[in-house]
Amino acid sequence: MNFNTLNVLEVVNLSAKINNIPILNGVNLTLKAGEIHAIMGPNGSGKSTFSKVISGHPSYTITEGDILWKGESILHLSPEKRARLGIFLAFQYPIEIPGVNNIDFLRLAYNTRKREKKLPELDPLSFLELATQKLKLIDMDPSFLSRSVNEGFSGGEKKRNEILQMALLDTDLAILDETDSGLDIDALKTVATGILQIKLPEAALILITHYQRLLNYIKPDFVHIMEKGKIIKTGDISLAQQLEKEGYTDIK
Ligand code: ADP
Ligand code: MG
Repeated sequence: MNFNTLNVLEVVNLSAKINNIPILNGVNLTLKAGEIHAIMGPNGSGKSTFSKVISGHPSYTITEGDILWKGESILHLSPEKRARLGIFLAFQYPIEIPGVNNIDFLRLAYNTRKREKKLPELDPLSFLELATQKLKLIDMDPSFLSRSVNEGFSGGEKKRNEILQMALLDTDLAILDETDSGLDIDALKTVATGILQIKLPEAALILITHYQRLLNYIKPDFVHIMEKGKIIKTGDISLAQQLEKEGYTDIK
């Protein structure tokens, strides 16, 4: 089957504001199944806002445009419903949830997604086995499963925990917001290699990053540059290389 003809996500002329401040100003982006897109751009250009708006963050108001998931608008759907459809966001700044055990949290999310897909759920013991396998892909210690979600985790450990969630939720679209920041060079290589193993062939991936380094491991099909809430340029990997050499000012 050629899954590559299906538009997983279509963002059409999307504008959004928060506290009456316009942040996104007409973003257009189409992703087909299996594709990897990178979004780069200076600080404050709206990349994280874009990722949060796609996932349905309630603080943002859509003022124009649409978000289509497999051809249908999802603007009216809550973040939970979007997650159940298979949209996953790894946060730039993952939040700590004291008192909520990581493994319980992961299993609840896992089983909710399975229920949505009408697939069998897992009991605590079988889930622990699965989670332990996935941990190995990103070289994470099993002790992180019994701690509270992200509580006291270092920056890099939080980023790994986000990727562990991605690994367990078999997402149709994963948006990774600066997963590479906070990881040292060795950790970046481990996590990037893990992401490639985790990603299903038909799953689409959006990598938000400042650095070409991550893209050396995870080769994007398209590279977009966002500025002032708009995608101002699209190219292939050579655009990221050019950016690394010349910076944003020259590329425009
Ligand atoms: P990026 O991820 O590209 O660095 P962000 O999406 O985080 O950019 O931010 C885009 C712009 O939106 C920034 O100028 C930021 O200050 C602004 N912004 C984000 N959240 C709020 C908010 N709650 N109130 C006002 N401005 C905000
Ligand atoms: Mg950001």
